[in-house]
Amino acid sequence: MFTLRLEGITTSDGKRILSPIAFSLEEGKSLSLVGESGSGKTTLAYAILGLLDPQLKVSGLEINLGKENISSLKEKEKRDRRGKNWVYLPQNGIAFLNPATSIRVQLGEALKKWGVKKGDFEAVEASLLRKVGFKDPYPILDKYPYELSGGMAERVVFALSLSPLAELVIADEPTNGLDPKNIDIFTELFSKHFSSSTRLIITHDIDYASLSDYILVLNKGVVMEYGPSKQVLENPKSPYTKALIEATPRHGLKGYVQIRDASPSCPFYGFCPLAKEECLKEELDKRQDKRYWRCIQR
Ligand code: SF4
Repeated sequence: MFTLRLEGITTSDGKRILSPIAFSLEEGKSLSLVGESGSGKTTLAYAILGLLDPQLKVSGLEINLGKENISSLKEKEKRDRRGKNWVYLPQNGIAFLNPATSIRVQLGEALKKWGVKKGDFEAVEASLLRKVGFKDPYPILDKYPYELSGGMAERVVFALSLSPLAELVIADEPTNGLDPKNIDIFTELFSKHFSSSTRLIITHDIDYASLSDYILVLNKGVVMEYGPSKQVLENPKSPYTKALIEATPRHGLKGYVQIRDASPSCPFYGFCPLAKEECLKEELDKRQDKRYWRCIQR
């Protein structure tokens, strides 16, 4: 079981980036964090992995993975776990790779962390590259990142993440920049390889999010809705979730213009077509079975 509780994250000058968040996820389940750019998705991922900018002020963070409170681990222990038990797939693969070392060396560093014997390195490296779609992996091993196309670099980064010891995987906009063929390779391998890991997927694409077991919708650092993805997508409770669904390319893009002043109680108030006086006065938190939403709507 993965559980997360966070009271909030603010900048050093007091600007709130994330408001209270709490959710839990059974082992082997996936959750998509959905929201526009700047909604706090990547900040939350960095908070989980212990990679936040030290200038940010984090309050009340407790993360449990299995029986362990991983947020209380020392920095050295967190460093040992990252790349082995906690895997992060960044959204810009080429920037993640070290430009000064070959793919062979970078894969070798990952294998060392995973406990693979040195004599097995080349065979395992080739097998990882084959898994991510390189039919002839050996010439890739001696290349440097600048010799790869963007799509090839994304696939190499994916190969680097395929730790057999992964308990927690966070993928940040994993399909960004991939062509449809590589999206299929990624999606199949991601769910197969990490089938027993807790998977968090950061995406602005609500269609892609529908493949996850649960969805958590963020707007300006506030959780607008959370629940089993089928229920959230078929019967969204929050007008903000509805707006995101309607904004998918499949439904045609729609712009949401600000139609009234902002409100401190609901981050969507300035734009929401269903806003009323009650939005400023009523208790917005609603819960029903496994669902949560923040709105006057029932
Ligand atoms: S609380 Fe009001 S403004 Fe906010 S999403 Fe719900 S209806 Fe819209």
